[in-house]
Amino acid sequence: MAKRQFKSESKRILDLMIGSIYTHREIFLRELISNASDAIDKLCYIALTDDKLGLTREDFKIEITRDPEARTLTVSDNGVGMTAEDLESNLGVIARSGSLKFKNQLSADGAQDKASSGIDIIGQFGVGFYSAFMVAKKVTVISRAYGSDSANMWESSGSDGYVISPAERAAFGTDVIMQLKDDAEDDGYSEFLEEHTLYSLIKKYSDYIRWPIIMDVTRSRRVEADPQESGKSDKPESKSKWESYTERETVNSRIPIWQRPKSEATDEDCNEFFKEQFDAEEDPAAVIRVAAEGAAVSYKAMLFVPSAAPYDYFTREYEPGLRLYASGVLIMEKCASLLPEYFRFVRGVVDSADLSLNISRETLQHDRQLKTIAANLEKKVRAELERLLENDRAGYAKFYEAFGLQLKYGLLSDYGAHAEKLRGLLLFYSAREAGLITLAEYVKNMPEEQKFIYYACGSGIAALDKLPQAEPLRERGYDVLYLTDDIDDFAARALGEYEGRQLRSVTGDDLGIADEAERRELEKTEQESRELLDFVKESLDGKISEARLSATLVSAPVCLTAKGGVTLEMERYFNTLKSVSPAASPAPVRAERVLELNASHRLFELLKNAYESDRERAAKYAELLYGQALLTAGLELDDAARFCGIISELTA
Ligand code: ADP
Repeated sequence: MAKRQFKSESKRILDLMIGSIYTHREIFLRELISNASDAIDKLCYIALTDDKLGLTREDFKIEITRDPEARTLTVSDNGVGMTAEDLESNLGVIARSGSLKFKNQLSADGAQDKASSGIDIIGQFGVGFYSAFMVAKKVTVISRAYGSDSANMWESSGSDGYVISPAERAAFGTDVIMQLKDDAEDDGYSEFLEEHTLYSLIKKYSDYIRWPIIMDVTRSRRVEADPQESGKSDKPESKSKWESYTERETVNSRIPIWQRPKSEATDEDCNEFFKEQFDAEEDPAAVIRVAAEGAAVSYKAMLFVPSAAPYDYFTREYEPGLRLYASGVLIMEKCASLLPEYFRFVRGVVDSADLSLNISRETLQHDRQLKTIAANLEKKVRAELERLLENDRAGYAKFYEAFGLQLKYGLLSDYGAHAEKLRGLLLFYSAREAGLITLAEYVKNMPEEQKFIYYACGSGIAALDKLPQAEPLRERGYDVLYLTDDIDDFAARALGEYEGRQLRSVTGDDLGIADEAERRELEKTEQESRELLDFVKESLDGKISEARLSATLVSAPVCLTAKGGVTLEMERYFNTLKSVSPAASPAPVRAERVLELNASHRLFELLKNAYESDRERAAKYAELLYGQALLTAGLELDDAARFCGIISELTA
């Protein structure tokens, strides 16, 4: 039989398949099973009208047969089959639309030199029958088409061409027989002859194919031992023994959980599915089921909000994305474009009959469909989180502990574009409640005259509780939110305001609580103390930008605030960053420090008296006050020994 040549573009794809990288190989099985399933779909449709066919829905199946000795793996179906012409036109050239697009993508990329990007596409989007050449050195297809008396064989050992010849086959359908490549030292193909590999590949990629996928599965059973044998011993277990046997079994579960009605997929089932499929230990915080029928795309989805973060969640290794199925066939393990970055913790599956198996990046149609799905899912996830927040505070708090940080990062990403959507989902520690509350709850409980939402940033609740700046707020019955994550200060800035109430840091230089009369009074005393305040600033020698009288301090003698854009928290944050990774922040970040003194405190009086009688002693009081302010702000002293010396001297 004369050898025929592949068309040039087919040959190129074939070459790519043959040289493909290891990790993508396993998808060949998915591709062949999917072709088999399509062929059965076609014959099943014909069977509806052709009584003579004598086949019912129950008769259709896909069989996987392995022969380790011959090193062959066969995928068979009793579907529509192919004639000799079909074999020629379907397998000899690129008939498949996906492959054509793949080819176009390659030419657009500038072909050969970009071959690696092409290979990447193989992994994500199947390119059909030719993928068999990723694992096989020779592929034989024996097929008998519906309505035909005879069968044909198509055989090829790769890019040097193929042969078509007459063959035998008892019934309609197709066998794809792969002669696996030889194992190389660091590159094995024998695994595709192993039962458990095939079993798990079917489970992984083709579990939800609606036709049964059948293969020999090893089982073991207890059998009664030979009575003569067992007579020799009186131990009861010696009367029976285990024996293994093989059985043809349907491996795939056929009806995906997300396709089942709610009554046939309980919450318990969904939780189990989540744990098994997504390697989670705990039940999810929420399960979201979606059945959407739309003009652009219809789909079903089952999403999970985990209640704990995977161990690698905050590392580069974590890959976000949803599993994407086209009519029950897995086409992408992690489709990241279905989720916004700030919901990257969501796991789950999306299944649409409107997507074809060969969905690929360059098809605008799919792009639009995926965008529609993504926009919809974003809303569903948000609504579910809001529902959880409303109805199950403990569950939400647990979720928030795991992923609250992610939501805050979401607030900051894309220049705050998502702040509007996310702020309702944030929780902050409330000083008054000694627990987490939402901004809405904060605002609801504000006394009428309170103008701002107050927050304090720091490394721990205990230290923040002692922050002198918060005291006047507490006295007025104003709650303060304690923000203890590194990025909180930025998050608070990104939020800016909530329901028209500005967020204000208690370490900022204006709490906005002094009334007009108080303010004027303060200005007057400040005028009178101008000289003293300037002296304090001078004697601290550039450490502060300003010394002023505090309008708010109650029992503390002093506090540190910051004016301008850089807060003390940012300074602290950038400096930690700098010590962890020096390159991250090249210039030292410094807040413009303002030392606020409490004019009605005894220490202020002592400072004043010293200023009048002994300037050197007054300078020490200034240092003492500054050191105290640093410590209460959670900052380090410049020189601890010197500070202790001053205390001893002033108190002796
Ligand atoms: P696709 O399946 O996307 O069309 P393939 O390269 O996998 O691309 O297959 C090319 C064509 O070969 C299919 O469209 C189908 O007509 C035919 N084909 C492949 N496998 C089978 C099969 N098992 N039974 C019948 N026809 C098949």
